[in-house]
Amino acid sequence: MRNRRQTRSKTKTALLLGLVAMVCGAPGSAYAAGEVNLYSYRQPFLIKPFLDEFTRRSGIKVNVVFAKKGMLNRIKSEGRNTRADGILTTDISRLDAHAKAGLLQPVRSAVLEKNIPAHLRDPEGLWFGLTKRVRLIVVSKARVKAGAVTRYEDLAKPEFKDRICVRKGSHVYNRALVAGMIAAHGPAKAETWAKGLVANLARKPQGNDRAQVKAVKDGVCDIALINNYYYGLMKFNKKKPEQQEWAKSVNIVFPNQKDRGAHINISGAAVVKHAKNRENMVKLLEFLSGETAQSMYASQNYEYPANPAVSADKEVASWGSFAEDKVSLRRIAELSPAAQKIIDRVGW
Ligand code: FE
Repeated sequence: MRNRRQTRSKTKTALLLGLVAMVCGAPGSAYAAGEVNLYSYRQPFLIKPFLDEFTRRSGIKVNVVFAKKGMLNRIKSEGRNTRADGILTTDISRLDAHAKAGLLQPVRSAVLEKNIPAHLRDPEGLWFGLTKRVRLIVVSKARVKAGAVTRYEDLAKPEFKDRICVRKGSHVYNRALVAGMIAAHGPAKAETWAKGLVANLARKPQGNDRAQVKAVKDGVCDIALINNYYYGLMKFNKKKPEQQEWAKSVNIVFPNQKDRGAHINISGAAVVKHAKNRENMVKLLEFLSGETAQSMYASQNYEYPANPAVSADKEVASWGSFAEDKVSLRRIAELSPAAQKIIDRVGW
């Protein structure tokens, strides 16, 4: 960033140098192609491999700002002066919050519309899903028979009283799931279901997704809900090997395979309203929706590529294929306030 208190002469020199560089810059060089600034929820070292590949192909340099917390407020307060051309983040709730705050701009792209299925992107092109994550049911290998739990709806059955662990309902993962239940059954039935689920809890909702699997391992409960990538992250956790044991204690269930399919959420990206490098950001989005980036991005966090032409990583594929609920993520976002009201009323 340029210091405003620079002397005039310094600014002039810089401008002159810039002109010289523009005139002399070789065509196709990184300078000529320019750059793009990305605010990322994911740590730069994790996304560097495929961003480097993008730069190699396009000559466009990608500058990554790691903004895990407060991304929205930062872009909002930066206003027109924001450096962000695009955002990379997880969960439909975050993408939708940026859209609602008026921080994004619509993109029409034949490449994106071909690569990303309609239910995984905003109809106006304000955001695009890049990876899918599944809300899985996990069950104790020792205490739950195969086939005893096959649907989210089963979690409200009286036979599972005191046997379920789940994090707080107001967490975005569960709120989106309740929104999915409203989309499938309407608000009244979704509320009855949520009430039944809460009545079956073995303990007060607490902890994160992984903590639910630990609770199953510890015998606190027999059934839990987690996002699929946590299963992979636990199964191969070298820093915390005890988590490998948690993962070993459960079987995973892809819910609702005989009806609407499993509830999914996304990680995704969008172009910022005040982007200075709009075209470059659109090129980056298109690259991210393509085969190379899709397989690299998804496999890094045990997620599923949003592009149906790209297959999941070997390990993730070994967990089995599944059918997904194709209700649009935009609909899930729209139903989220109603879902939160249900969550509050049932005390989840
Ligand atoms: Fe997560």
